This record gives sequence, structure tokens and C-alpha cells, in this order.
Amino acid sequence: MKIILLGAPGAGKGTQATKICEKYNLPHISTGDILRDNIRRGTPLGQQAKAIIDRGELVPDEVVVAIVKDRLSLDDCKSGWLLDGFPRTIAQAKALDSFEKAEYAINITIPFEKLLYRITGRRMCECGESYHVSTHPSPTCDKCGKTLYIRADDNEESVANRLKAYEQSTAPLVDYYAEAGILKNVDGDSTVDGVFEIISEILD
Ligand code: ADP
Ligand code: ZN
Repeated sequence: MKIILLGAPGAGKGTQATKICEKYNLPHISTGDILRDNIRRGTPLGQQAKAIIDRGELVPDEVVVAIVKDRLSLDDCKSGWLLDGFPRTIAQAKALDSFEKAEYAINITIPFEKLLYRITGRRMCECGESYHVSTHPSPTCDKCGKTLYIRADDNEESVANRLKAYEQSTAPLVDYYAEAGILKNVDGDSTVDGVFEIISEILD
């Protein structure tokens, strides 16, 4: 299966991505996780991307396209993959189309006014797991035991920029994939398991 996850920041893409990849045994390719890992390791890519990401702006298309093209060429992607956080612009979607064809574009929708609450309460683990102070509280990660942290771009100003980038650049992808005939809208305003059940019904 070749799956793209769409949805605003805070819609729950990362959480659902982890569950989908466990159930269907797919590599979870999150451009946000890859970029944050590069920032932690201080690579040239991380140094280039850090300021952009912290401000909540988008990293240049050619940079993320190269990351994804590289990643999808690895052996574990031969029979399927799940992309989380990519594509985020029409240019990225067209680039992806030129070397791979997605079979499902799952768009997780959520009322705008809930996004801020979800993002500002978010706590992250380096392994990619995410938690929430009210809906999924935990002092350390259930999966790997590490201490949770608040993402540098989960502050009010960066979140406002991320939502703007979403509206301007990413929301048009919903029409793009509807025209391609692979769009599936999923109501994300429910529990983690409730949303996952709907996604499973689509993919089963
Ligand atoms: P969220 O969906 O919560 O905003 P992500 O972890 O997917 O978070 O991405 C965090 C940041 O990484 C984005 O705000 C952006 O700066 C950068 N980024 C991730 N994926 C892409 C992409 N496909 N194109 C451009 N920038 C990206
Ligand atoms: Zn962890």
C-alpha cells in the first residue's frame, strides 16, 4: 500500500501514521521527523532547516523532495510506504507523481478551533510518539522511556505561521488528490482509536 496522509498541523497525522504503519507493516516516512532528526544531529541539512522550521515556515520544495526521493528508493519501500507531512505543496505532489504513485490520500479533517488546543498541549518524544497534556498525558514515552519535550515550533507565533502555510500551500492538495481519484476524507474530531477505525475500514 502507498499512502499519503493529509491534514492541518494538529489534525493527528503523526499519531494515526504510527498506528497505520504498525497494522499494515509499512515504513513511516515523516519529513518533519527526518528534519528534526537532522537538527538534533547538527547535519548540514539540519543547520539549513532549523530556523525555517522554528519559524513555522516551509522548507524549500527541492530540499524535501530530495529527502523523500532518497528515502523511497530504499529496499523497505519496495512494496509500500506511508508519507506523513509530504507532499505539502502542489509542486511537491507533482514531483512525487513523477517517480511514485500514491494509492490513497487520507485527509484527516478537524475543526479549525480545535487545532490550537491540540498543538499547544502537545508533548513529543524523539522516537516520534506524541502525547497531550490532557488527552494523553505521560511524564515519559510509553514506547522508549525517554523524557518528553515541547517542539520548538509549537509556540503561538510559529503555529500561526504553520496554519497559514497549511491554508495557502497544503489545503489545495485536497482538490489535487480528489481529481486524481484517490482522496478519502476522514473526520479527525474523535478519539485516536475512533479515527483509526475509520481509516482501517478504508484500507482493509
Ligand atoms: P506539523 O504537521 O505538526 O506542522 P511536521 O512535523 O510535519 O509538523 O513538520 C514540521 C515542520 O517541518 C514544518 O512546519 C516545516 O517547516 C517542515 N516540513 C516538514 N515537512 C515538510 C514538507 N513536506 N515541505 C516543507 N516543509 C516541511
Ligand atoms: Zn519514545
